[in-house]
Amino acid sequence: MKRLHSFYIDGSWKSAPTDTALDIINPATEAVVGSVAMGTTADANSAIEAAVAAFPTFSKTTVTERLELLERVLKCYKNRYDDFADAIRTEMGAPKTLAHEAQAYCGVEHLEATIDALKEFKLEVPRDSHTLRYEPIGVCGLITPWNWPINQIVCKVAPAIAAGCAVVLKPSEYAALSAQLFAEVMDAAGVPAGVFNMVFGDGAEVGAAISSHPDIDMMSFTGSTAAGVAVAVGAAPTVKRVSQELGGKSPIVIAEDVDLETVIPKCVWLCMENTGQSCNAGTRLIVPAHLHGRIVELAVEAAENCVVGDPTDKKTDIGPLANVRQYTKVTGLLRQAEAEGLTPAPGGPERPEGIREGYYVRPTIFAGLNNSQLIAREEVFGPVLAILPYETIDEATKIANETPYGLSAYIYTNDPKLATTWSQDIRAGMVHINGAPLATGAPFGGYKQSGNGREWGRTACTNFWR
Ligand code: NAD
Repeated sequence: MKRLHSFYIDGSWKSAPTDTALDIINPATEAVVGSVAMGTTADANSAIEAAVAAFPTFSKTTVTERLELLERVLKCYKNRYDDFADAIRTEMGAPKTLAHEAQAYCGVEHLEATIDALKEFKLEVPRDSHTLRYEPIGVCGLITPWNWPINQIVCKVAPAIAAGCAVVLKPSEYAALSAQLFAEVMDAAGVPAGVFNMVFGDGAEVGAAISSHPDIDMMSFTGSTAAGVAVAVGAAPTVKRVSQELGGKSPIVIAEDVDLETVIPKCVWLCMENTGQSCNAGTRLIVPAHLHGRIVELAVEAAENCVVGDPTDKKTDIGPLANVRQYTKVTGLLRQAEAEGLTPAPGGPERPEGIREGYYVRPTIFAGLNNSQLIAREEVFGPVLAILPYETIDEATKIANETPYGLSAYIYTNDPKLATTWSQDIRAGMVHINGAPLATGAPFGGYKQSGNGREWGRTACTNFWR
């Protein structure tokens, strides 16, 4: 049993002053594997005080010193690599291979990308009559979710440190094991006292206390759109910079000229990977109406081929949903869809056959939808794919854009002209053409209610400078 009842403040572990705690539950077994203390406003204030005290000295360190520090963090992270993969698998049910090769690897990727960006970045840019000088923005509050827990922590902490900022991190209360490890890595790397602080707690108290604190210069938030709005509202009276990475309902748009047998299984995986709990998951498959029947057959086959089960088994493709809150939300939406008269094929709110415990749902597909239906509109954040038919290219674009979100879009066509048209007309922060993967050097962020932030690599560093 892990007892995470201390906060990392001013370079050491301080015992949580109260006994209020949340159970850490393995979502595959529903077993309690530990507990995490829920901090208070007073704990957030202590962490902010430490960061304020550390900032004047740390902001004056040289780029070389900060590069050496980030290299030490990277080395210490690699030393604990397997622990990160195990922690992520235990706390949110990511299958072994995904946890090891993708979830934990994000930490290495973001540290390396930040180091490369800092090496290249010009802090002083001479112009005609003046010099533009980038300065660290100050003390930053960082709030992160549970779905790619280390990805989001490292893609904020690393560039903030690179810029010379001091930070207070509030990780998700549902992903405390990996956050604890990350704080241990920062400690082992010898990050100066007060430069990195971490307080566990919920959004309503600790998150709100950080967002509204007058000594915080910038909030960097990743999570739901509702919580992102609350952070911005809390930050507004003290005029902070607010970077928001929020929800999504990303379209996958298919042209009639693609090889369906090859492409459709990939599209299904764009939705199902990480049990559908990725902000950039492709969850609306927009397809030519005359090919709808064949595409549904192929999608159903691909969904049925996904191996759902024990995250410790290497053969598992899809683990459980990450926590009971998410399980209640997803099964609730699936029941609501059924009450609206929709029949999934395959899937639904019941556990997969043979599984009696854990927060599992079946890979689910709803075909023949339109954007007025709940499952096509709402961010389900589970393994649930909506298939929507279109008649014309313009209608496909319209369906893709008919959403308050705009994080990612996926386009499949063999016609370069059509790829260009769709990539420019669909309002999404990131567009992937014919399966192009995410690149850590490219800016990650959305349009509309998917947020205003741009993270990763070189772009991320500029977030934390002014
Ligand atoms: P969430 O909004 O419930 O929680 C995210 C974080 O915000 C947690 O640390 C939580 O404690 C905190 N929080 C909640 N309410 C708050 C408040 N009022 N003030 C301050 N902090 C508050 O989201 P979640 O369930 O952890 O994560 C899932 C959501 O995150 C999805 O909507 C997903 O799309 C989104 N997400 C977006 C990105 C992106 O880069 N755009 C990446 C990952 C996840």
